[in-house]
This record gives sequence, C-alpha cells and structure tokens, in this order.
Amino acid sequence: MKDSDFTLVNVVINRPLHQKFAYKIEGIIGPECVGSRVEVNFSGSNSIGIITDINPEIKHPLSKIKKAKLLDRVSFIAKDIQKVLEFGSAFYQYPLGQCYNVALPKLLRDGKAYAYESIPALDLCGEPDNKTLSKIRSEEQLKLIDVLKNGAVKRKELRERGFSSQTENALVKKGIAKLTELETEQKKFTDTDLPILKENPPVPNIEQQNAIISISSTKEFGVFLLNGITGSGKTEVYLRVIEEVLKQGKAALVLVPEIALTPQTFNRFYRRFNVPVSSMHSALSDRERLDAYIDMASGKSGILIGTRTALFTPIPNLGLIIIDEEHDSSFKQNDTFRYHARSLGIIRAKQNNCPIVLGSATPSLETIFNVKKGLYKKLDLTIRAGGASLPDFQVIDLRNEPLTDGLKTGVSETLEKEIGEETAKGNQVMLFLNRRGYAHHLVCHNCGHVFMCPHCDNLLTVHKGVSRLKCHMCENTITIPEVCPQCQSDALFEQGFGTEQVSEYLKTRYPDIGIERIDRDVVTSKAQLETRLNRITSGKSQIVIGTQMLAKGHDFPNVTLVGILDIDSSLFSDDYRSLENAAQLLTQVSGRSGRGNKKGRVIIQTHHKDNLLINQLINPDCTYLNIAEELLKTRKNLMLPPYTYQAFILSNSSERINAYSFLNQLYSELSGIAYNYSNLALTPVMSDKMEKQQNRYHFHMLVTCISRKTLNMFLTEVRNIVSRKSLSQDLRFAIEVDPIIM
Ligand code: ADP
Ligand code: ZN
Ligand code: ZN
Repeated sequence: MKDSDFTLVNVVINRPLHQKFAYKIEGIIGPECVGSRVEVNFSGSNSIGIITDINPEIKHPLSKIKKAKLLDRVSFIAKDIQKVLEFGSAFYQYPLGQCYNVALPKLLRDGKAYAYESIPALDLCGEPDNKTLSKIRSEEQLKLIDVLKNGAVKRKELRERGFSSQTENALVKKGIAKLTELETEQKKFTDTDLPILKENPPVPNIEQQNAIISISSTKEFGVFLLNGITGSGKTEVYLRVIEEVLKQGKAALVLVPEIALTPQTFNRFYRRFNVPVSSMHSALSDRERLDAYIDMASGKSGILIGTRTALFTPIPNLGLIIIDEEHDSSFKQNDTFRYHARSLGIIRAKQNNCPIVLGSATPSLETIFNVKKGLYKKLDLTIRAGGASLPDFQVIDLRNEPLTDGLKTGVSETLEKEIGEETAKGNQVMLFLNRRGYAHHLVCHNCGHVFMCPHCDNLLTVHKGVSRLKCHMCENTITIPEVCPQCQSDALFEQGFGTEQVSEYLKTRYPDIGIERIDRDVVTSKAQLETRLNRITSGKSQIVIGTQMLAKGHDFPNVTLVGILDIDSSLFSDDYRSLENAAQLLTQVSGRSGRGNKKGRVIIQTHHKDNLLINQLINPDCTYLNIAEELLKTRKNLMLPPYTYQAFILSNSSERINAYSFLNQLYSELSGIAYNYSNLALTPVMSDKMEKQQNRYHFHMLVTCISRKTLNMFLTEVRNIVSRKSLSQDLRFAIEVDPIIM
C-alpha cells in the first residue's frame, strides 16, 4: 500500500506517560474520528488508544510509523470533553491517556462495541380493571401499576425509583405485569410530540423566580452560586431552569453526591418530564453504565443525573450544568486522576458556552471566595418553600448533666427527656452522630493495651452486632477478643460510643417505639436504604439515629427535633478544614428539622458551651455565610487556601524506607529548584496522618504558592524530574492539586 492510503494520527494510551504517539490508519479518516478508539501495538502488547489528532505534523517518514486499527468511527471523547481532559491533565499533572481512561465507561475501555444490548423492562399485561385493583392490598404494587400505565419502564429505572424486585415479581405472579425487553430504537428526545412537562409544577416564590430568570436569561457561559437554605426549593429551581433548556432543544447535566441519589431525587425528575432521564452512579453494572452513556451520546435522553464521573459523558448540545451540594467532598476524586468535578465542570460549561449552577445551603469557602472576587454570581433563597419555618437552636451544657448510663452512651438526661416528650406527641426525632459502630475502640483496663488494625495505623472499632472489631480504613475485621493478648486480663473496656451503641441504649429506654439506624454498617444497598427510609416516612420508626448519611436529601416532614450528640470531636482537629466541614454538616443536619408545617428544634450537646462556632450556630442572627466569612478571615491570616494554592507530592510503598527515601531524595533536589519560583514554599517530607494504610507506608511534601500558574509550572518540573528516574515497581508516586483530605 502507498503512504497516501493511510491517515496519520496521534494516539494516547492508558499508560503513565505524558506523550502522544503517532500511528497510521488504513484509509482516509476525517476530524469526526478525533476521540475514536484504535487498537495499537504498544511496547509488545495490544492496547486500546484514543485518537487525539488527525494528520499531526511529525518528523519521521510515514513508512517508519506503525499501523493502528480503527475500532469505530464514533467519537467517544467529544470536542468539549477533549478540552476538559487536556486541561485536567495539565492542571492535575496526570497523564492524558490515563485521564481518558477515567472518562470512558469500562466496557469501552475493554474494547467492547459501542452498542446497546437488550434492556430488561417491566410492562403491564393490559390495563388492569377495577376488580383486580381492588384486590391489591400493597400500596407499593398500586404505585407501580400507576407508573407502568404510561408504558414499559426499564427495571433499572424502577429500582432507582424505589420499587423492589419483590414488588415487581408480585405483579408478574398475579399476571398484571410482564417482563419484557425495551426497544433500543434510537429516538432523540427532541423528536417527540409529547409536551416537555408531565406534571404541573408549583408556582415559584419571588426568590425562586429571580433565580430562574437570572439563570435562564444567560445564554452564554456564567457561573452561578444558588445559595439556598435547606428546604428553600433549590431543586425546584433546577427543574425550572432545566425545563427552559429542554425547550431550546438542549440537554442538561446534573451532578449530585452519591449519597443524595435517593429515590426521592430520581422521582422528582422522572415525574416532572416526559423527556427521558438517564443516570450514572456506583450501583450500576458496567453494562448499565454504557447504556446510559449511549443514551446521552446519541441524544436519546435529555437529562443526565449522576455522580462525579458522569461529568465526562458526551452530551450533544449541552445547555446547562448543575452541581448540587457543590461543597460536598465526594466531587473530588482521591486516587488516580485526582480531579474536582466542580473545577472541571466549570471548564466544560465554558467549552459549551453555557451556564453552570453550583447549588448549596452551605457553599464551600472556595466558592464564596470566588463570589467575593466577582467571578461567580450569587443567587439567594432565604425562605423555606411551602412556608416551613427554620428550627430553633438550643444547647445542653454537658458539664451540668449527671453522668448517667445514657450520657456515657451519648444521650444526656435532658435530651432523653426531650426525646420522650416529642415522641409522645407523635413526632419524630433524628439523632446525629458521625461515628458508626458500637464503641470507638477497645482498651485493656489492666495494662492499657489498645487493639490496632494489623494493616493500618488505626484503632479497631467495636461492632457488637457482628461480634467483630473492624478497621474503618481497610474494613478488615477480627473476632472480638476475650482477653488482652498482652496481660491475659479479661477486663476489656469499650471506649467511645458509636451509632450502634446509641441505638441499643435507646431500645432499652423506649422498647415500644420504632428506632431506625442509618449508617454504612446497616445500609449496604440502595434497597436497604429505601426500606429504612420508608419506615421513617410512614411513621413506623419514630427515632432515627444516623451518620452523615442522614444529612442530605431526605425530606421527613414529621421530624421536629434533631439532636447533635457529639459536636466536640470536630471542634479540635488539626485539619484546617474541620471547622468549615463541621459548620456545613451541622447546618445540613439542622435543616432536617421542621420541614413540614410543625416548628422544628435542634439540640446540641457539648462540653464547650462557650466555643465560638457553637455560639455562632445557635445565634439566630448568624447565618452559615457569616460563619464562612469568619473562617475566611482566619484562612487569609494564615495564608491558607483559597488565599493560596496547595499541592501534595505523594509517595507510598510497602517498604517504609523506600517511600520515605525516594521522597526525601526528591526533596533535596527540589529545595534547590524551589528558589527559582517566587512565593512558593515546600515542606520537608512528612508521614501522612495515617502513615500505614493497608500495609503501605504513605509520605508527602506540601507545596504552597500564591500563584496558580507558578504552582503549575513547578509541579510540571517535578513531574519531569520524576519521569527521568526509574522507580521501583512497588513505589507509587502522585501529585495531588487542591487536596482536601490530609
Ligand atoms: P431544597 O432543594 O432547597 O432542599 P426543595 O426543592 O427540595 O428544596 O424544596 C423543599 C420542598 O418544598 C419540596 O417538597 C418542594 O416540592 C417544595 N417546594 C419547592 N418550591 C416550592 C414552591 N414554589 N411552592 C410550593 N412548594 C415548593
Ligand atoms: Zn492488658
Ligand atoms: Zn486497616
């Protein structure tokens, strides 16, 4: 074959290499194939690569260049995502080929075809008559019939909307519904005669109206902070602005924290629009993820709701991005490509010249800072939609409380009395404790021996229900020992209470009241979460005890009392973000009280009644934004982000000495170079807060700089220096820009 029968392309490959590689492809292909997959032979093995450029300029003659096989003529990485990944690769110092790898669904990475498989669905066998309907006792089954009346629905969607497979099967057994396969025929959401809306939305209040107009009248790039207190109707604003975008034939992308992906959230979108909605989250199989990806890429769905990686889904004609709970740390990826979906979301909106809305009741200090700089426009929702009022705050000074068994378990006498009174009135109480397990750790009363994880520098937590000690770092467990391995004493003492213990205690105090626990130990699936949430919504459970799983997205109108059991542990942390996080979490949790037409209360237990943060929280004239302003002042004085920019240079290895000496050697090289960069500081090597994690030893250096650009230049040099070294197999090196977790 002649050279002119080939097209020259640049390709990136899923390897820790920053270069692109030239290959030639048989036939003539055009720019539509940028982002397509190719199979290449790379250093002896077959790999999947992605085309980044067509006909790039290269020095070698074409005859010297290896051939690659074009796998499809579909671009998986649309132009806007390509730009986002190029930006992300440079900004986060992560190889472009590996960024692409994070962006692609696994099946595409593995070389599977870009095509649907049949989609299992459920359909009615025909319109059920009244006689059949009157025989059905289960409300869930009736609800499901109602949903199916509009046509077959994917089983995956039914699960997301909170229907269990038991409910589905019951209808099948009764001959009312049947399993079927949904057609995979491609119809764009814009090619339909159905109206966009399926239901009549509530009339927005004046603040919502202002926000809707501001966002919808923006036809170009712009960043909005929708700062609305909990229950102020932010989601309603999202739905309205999405409606406007759909009217223009454009699609919308909504990113939410994993924890907020509840049936309540999904149902609001599915119920509102006739336009197909797709979703992406960790509960999907690889197949379902690819199907959702195709739904969006082909224009079949008009709305994508998903967690952080959904950001990389191709969406033709993207008209709006929403990042709900923008302060949530789950938008940051903490390994491989360590990006923040909020930062890259803004880049994607810029590429599409469309608005992006960051929504939160408790915005991150970074976002508030950007509002102050005039980069983002703030829109406020200050009143609760539907007329509910904000809760009153009250502090229980634990120093004045008798040291009862209850208090040792986290519930003071006063709080216990309040719980009793509220539940007697038929109201619900929600208790919040961000520590799961029965007891924080186990200590020998005789010799002081504590039980540590053999793989991590971490105390083991006592889990009574399963009779195990569990490491919350690596989830490794051992049976609860009967005697101390050091002194053989059987006086083993449980130190510090967790949700399991509180729940056990309350059961002894209120044997006749339904008590629900919500934490990662008892809620291990969406279905379980759903069952538990249903027991709360239906009023079967009157007392709820939970971790931060409880803080978001759930709307329980009968909760009139929220109790914060242990705020003190977050007041004294060496992580400079802990006060910001505590203020956010407490504001969010408090927002669970008084959502309906009953007035709510929040009770905080503390040994530190005079603490500034506590006083700010209970002061009705002090908003979260006031607290944030104070925290920002401290950050400025201490030259901490967002007033400076930070990055970690990280290493870890199964040999402690290797991880340390590699980084220390790098430190001596870098400290000579760092002087060339103005206003940049580099710390010596330190071990991570938890040095040993799953048998690997972790070390870091911290770089701080007042210029984003200088920091980036320095990190690029660091990366180049490291790439010239040959690292031992076992050593891992990484750069983390804008870290959130120490
Ligand atoms: P947020 O997202 O800020 O927590 P939501 O959008 O979930 O708030 O609204 C809280 C509750 O108020 C929901 O039940 C919602 O249906 C209702 N709601 C929102 N906006 C309005 C409105 N304009 N009129 C009546 N009810 C509303
Ligand atoms: Zn002992
Ligand atoms: Zn461990």
